[in-house]
This record gives sequence, structure tokens and C-alpha cells, in this order.
Amino acid sequence: MRYDYLIVGAGFAGCVLAERLASQVDKKVLIVEKRSHIGGNAYDEYDENGILVHRYGPHIFHTNSKRVFEYLSQFTEWQFYEHKVLAKLGTELYPIPINRITLNKLYNLRLGSDLEVQQYLENVRDKRESISNSEDIIVDRVGTDLFNKFFKDFTMKQWGVEPKDLSPSVCGRIPVRTNEDCRYFTDRYQFMPRDGYTPMFQKMISNKNIELALNTDYKTILTDTKFNRLIYTGPVDYFFDYLHGILPYRSIRFEFENLERTHYQPVGQINHVESTIEFTRVAEYKFLTAQIASSTTISREYAQKVGEPFYPIPSNESRSIFHKYKKEISKLKNISFCGRLAEYQYYNMDQVVANSLLKFECLVK
Ligand SMILES: Cc1cc2nc3c(=O)[nH]c(=O)nc-3n(C[C@H](O)[C@H](O)[C@H](O)COP(=O)(O)OP(=O)(O)OC[C@H]3O[C@@H](n4cnc5c(N)ncnc54)[C@H](O)[C@@H]3O)c2cc1C
Repeated sequence: MRYDYLIVGAGFAGCVLAERLASQVDKKVLIVEKRSHIGGNAYDEYDENGILVHRYGPHIFHTNSKRVFEYLSQFTEWQFYEHKVLAKLGTELYPIPINRITLNKLYNLRLGSDLEVQQYLENVRDKRESISNSEDIIVDRVGTDLFNKFFKDFTMKQWGVEPKDLSPSVCGRIPVRTNEDCRYFTDRYQFMPRDGYTPMFQKMISNKNIELALNTDYKTILTDTKFNRLIYTGPVDYFFDYLHGILPYRSIRFEFENLERTHYQPVGQINHVESTIEFTRVAEYKFLTAQIASSTTISREYAQKVGEPFYPIPSNESRSIFHKYKKEISKLKNISFCGRLAEYQYYNMDQVVANSLLKFECLVK
């Protein structure tokens, strides 16, 4: 059997491309996945207590792209869900992103309008001449006290380095609001797959043109498998046998716990922003999935250096290593690199879907 495409990885990038190639242009596809399941980091399953959990941390779907939403809607029904996050400081909980409610509660103020919040922030901000790191961008927006309370220790725990040693994009992607909007995201489409992510992936790749090999590292089958083109969604440095060095990632250890009560916390996610608490955040899955059950499951996240590659670390050093791999990629024919590991770029799920749809169009042009 000769396949038209060998696709490495059964996450969003691999499954979208397999689905398009099989259903739209009748290509024969083999997907090879080293884990024991499909879905990549968006994989979900019922735990031993019957609660639907996300094994690689809470995945909230949100997008402004009608195209992405309509594409995925072929494979799932949706359940409306707007994510809310609170930060725990001392014994109190505050809305994140910082908004008018956060400021009024924290400083015992009575800011009543967007304009009053703007004026308040204008007074407390510590204007920086140039923004070259994550400390600059936050201090410039909200001043030192809010930076110290909500960002400094949390970022240090999450990334293992101080905000001043991280690119402005890391902390800068969290907005500061002048209104009372407590939603974490403001995208046009905010829904969760009604029956979970895994059934959605199953539907995507249930096509007679698609074969799936789980528990298989692609390198172990390369010599015995005949194919015309390769689509690679795994780590780019591994593909080249670390020729130019290892690309650094931040990883996470998840500690799951089931509790005999209907709920554990008031919202789907609580960020523990203080250095005295070792974990960074606690997710409670029933908020995300709208499941009704007598017990509840939470996960605590401990950020760490080693383990599954999760977040690319945006630094000058990693950029320079990735640049060398990009040069190697440009020398290859009939091999495409797609997704967050192959492109060494933090993407949300909707971005990976959008990029994969574009990649499909390029492949069949
Ligand atoms: C903790 C965490 C929380 C997140 N939360 C959100 C969120 O709330 N909302 C959101 O939009 N996005 C979120 N994301 C991002 C989301 O996970 C990614 O956008 C998405 O999973 C990327 O899909 P992908 O196919 O590129 O990569 P992946 O999902 O990582 O899929 C790549 C697949 O390739 C496989 N693979 C790797 N190497 C090999 C090999 N050698 N042989 C065979 N297979 C291989 C891997 O096992 C994996 O299954 C989160 C990410 C993390 C880490």
C-alpha cells in the first residue's frame, strides 16, 4: 500500500489536514501518533469517577473566525461557555483580566465608569520610555503595585524566569479592562464541543481514506512505509535529530483530584498568583463541560522545565535556534511542517485550525 500522505501527529493540525485531504481530494492518508490517543493536547476523556477531564489542562475554545467555527461545526454540536478566571491573593478572589471590579475590591475604591478607571490607571502607571520585556509592558499599563501583586510571582512560577527576562508578548497578551467585563476571552464564538473534543476528532478522521497508527513514533515506521508526501506536526528539533540543538519548552505536571462535592470553586479557573503556593492554577472541569454530577474533578498545574513540550519559550536564543531549523526546512521537498511544535510557536486551537486549512489549500493548489 502506498499512501498519498503520511501525517505525523493526531492533534488539531494533523486531524484537520487528514480530514481535508481525505474528504476533499480523495487522498489516502496514514496518521501516525506516538501517544495512545488522538486529539493531541486537546484530548479529553472520562476519568474513573465519570467526570469529563482534559488530560493536558483546560482547553477553552474561542475564536473570531467564522470560517474556523463553521468548519469544526461539521464534526460537533456546541455548548455555550464563557470562561471566567479569578486570581487568589491572600484569602480573596479577584477578576482576571484586571478590570474595574478588581481595582475597586483591591483598593477599596468606587470607580464608577471607564473614564474613572482610565484616569486611575494613568495616575498609577509607571511610564516606560521603551517596552522591551514583560515587566515593562505591565508596569507601563498598571504600575508597580498591580504588577507585583498579579504578575511578578505568577510569571516567575509559570516560566521559571522573571518577567523582565521574557518578551513583552507573554504578559502583554492579557488585557487590562476599564469596564466590569469578567469574561477571560471576548471572542465572537465561545463554545465547547458538546460531547467533548475527542468525539469531535473521531468524527473528523472517520473516513475510509484515513488510517491511524497509535503508540507509534513515526521514525520507527519510516523505512517500511511508502508515501508521496509527509506532513509533520511534531517537534521540529526532533525531526532533524537536534542538529542545531534542543529548542526550550516550558512543561507542566498536572495533579488531578476528585472531590465528593458538587463544586470546588466558584469558576472554571483560579490562578494562584502568590509565590507561597507552588501550583499556578486550578481548573474545575465541570464548569467547562456543563456536566451534572455529584462529584467534581480539579487539576492543579505545576510548571516545570522537563516533561512534555507545552509552551515554546520566546527568547533571543530560542529564536536563533529555530531560525537554523527553518533554513533546513527550506531545503526539503514534499515535506510540510504545521502546528505548534513543528513551527515552534504558541498557537491557540483556532489558529492551528485556520493555519491547517490554509496549508491544505496550498497543498492542493
Ligand atoms: C496547558 C495548555 C492549555 C491550553 N489551553 C488552550 C485553550 O484554552 N484554548 C486554546 O485555543 N488553546 C489552548 N492550548 C493550545 C492547544 O493545545 C494547541 O493550540 C493545539 O493543541 C495545537 O495542536 P497541534 O496539532 O499543533 O499540536 P498537538 O496538539 O501537540 O499535536 C501534536 C501531536 O503530535 C504527536 N507527535 C509528536 N511527536 C511525534 C512523533 N515523533 N511521532 C508521532 N507523533 C508525534 C504528539 O503526541 C501530539 O499528539 C493550550 C495548550 C496547553 C499546553
